[in-house]
Amino acid sequence: MSKLVGLVGWRGMVGSVLMDRMVEEKDFDLIEPLFFSTSNAGGKAPSMAKNETTLQDANSIDALKRCEIIITCQGGDYTNAVYPKLRATGWNGHWIDAASALRMEKDAVIILDPVNMPVIKNALAKGGNNWIGGNCTVSCMLMGVGALYKAGLVEWMSTQTYQAASGGGAQHMRELLTQYGTLNAEVRSLLDDPKSAILEIDRKVIAKQRSLSGAETANFGVPLGGSLIPWIDADRGDGTSLEEWKGGAETNKILGRGPGFGSAATPIDSLCVRVGAMRCHSQALTIKLKKDVPLADLEAMIRNDNAWVRYVPNTKADSIQGLTPVAVTGTMDIAVGRLRKMALGPQYVGAFTIGDQLLWGAAEPLRRMLRLLLEA
Ligand code: NAP
Repeated sequence: MSKLVGLVGWRGMVGSVLMDRMVEEKDFDLIEPLFFSTSNAGGKAPSMAKNETTLQDANSIDALKRCEIIITCQGGDYTNAVYPKLRATGWNGHWIDAASALRMEKDAVIILDPVNMPVIKNALAKGGNNWIGGNCTVSCMLMGVGALYKAGLVEWMSTQTYQAASGGGAQHMRELLTQYGTLNAEVRSLLDDPKSAILEIDRKVIAKQRSLSGAETANFGVPLGGSLIPWIDADRGDGTSLEEWKGGAETNKILGRGPGFGSAATPIDSLCVRVGAMRCHSQALTIKLKKDVPLADLEAMIRNDNAWVRYVPNTKADSIQGLTPVAVTGTMDIAVGRLRKMALGPQYVGAFTIGDQLLWGAAEPLRRMLRLLLEA
């Protein structure tokens, strides 16, 4: 009989992408899905449902306990509220989660199997049952340049990110598009007139951006359309954001490095910026290598690391065509380009990576973990 797999958060941003991928890869053929909701218990489950066609209450521990495997994309508050109560009942099923809430727990593995299959297999063999998707930015970066880490070549890394609105969820994408629409409407008649003065357009746009209402900026707190926000997630009070902290902490945990694994962590620091892209997290990397390695060797390592790296030659034509959110959105590609030795010295390498953070950065590692559990 197929395993009963609970699906929580399936209609959110990550959840919708996960459902699409599970349909595409025929994962539903292998499971009996049980759909949950925090807002519509008793409603009709989506079309992938088989025998269980009613939405279950996602806060009902009794309903959750029925599942052998639970996949949740509902968010950290939900995990914090429900997970401890569920485990307290003695439930020892597999918990697969997109939220960060449990990521740094000792018994949780951050899953990114093309990068850390040995860490996952080791935990599986030891009876592990908490499988947490990594931070989207970190996962996309490691899918791109993980080869350099696996080869032990990275002395340290600094990254500057350009993260899409969808990183915040469905409501954030809507807000960005609504803002673009509002700004366009503000100057549409001037745009239609080729003789209108550009400074007048510019003045009207900035005035509109500065006067957007609380409702129009409810999700990001400030305008994002036509602007950027140089802070993502909580303020840690030491000059860094939580998103920036995750870059170092999670990269090392995924790779099985750092004091928790009896080794030194690789220093990684970030500056994380929200930009007005819809999907895809991009980042500019500065990597200090432990030794001088020819660029052609680095390129070969990156190209050959996994099936999803799409290497983009470091030319203007290739970069503007192939190394953008527009080119990468909705694909499984992890585009890596702008690879070059930096003026700082032969051990310093620059690169630019882009991945659809809703795929490799969120949904894909979750469904691949489900497959690993079904095959185990
Ligand atoms: P989200 O789009 O806000 O969805 C979360 C929940 O919000 C849904 O399951 C749904 O719950 C509810 N919801 C309320 N209004 C909605 C609407 N208009 N459309 C769809 N759902 C709505 O959040 P998310 O971006 O998927 O993130 C879920 C978790 O994944 C978070 O912990 C996040 O940190 C993590 N994550 C996100 C990303 C990303 O790029 N977005 C990447 C990696 C990890 P009900 O159906 O129960 O009402």
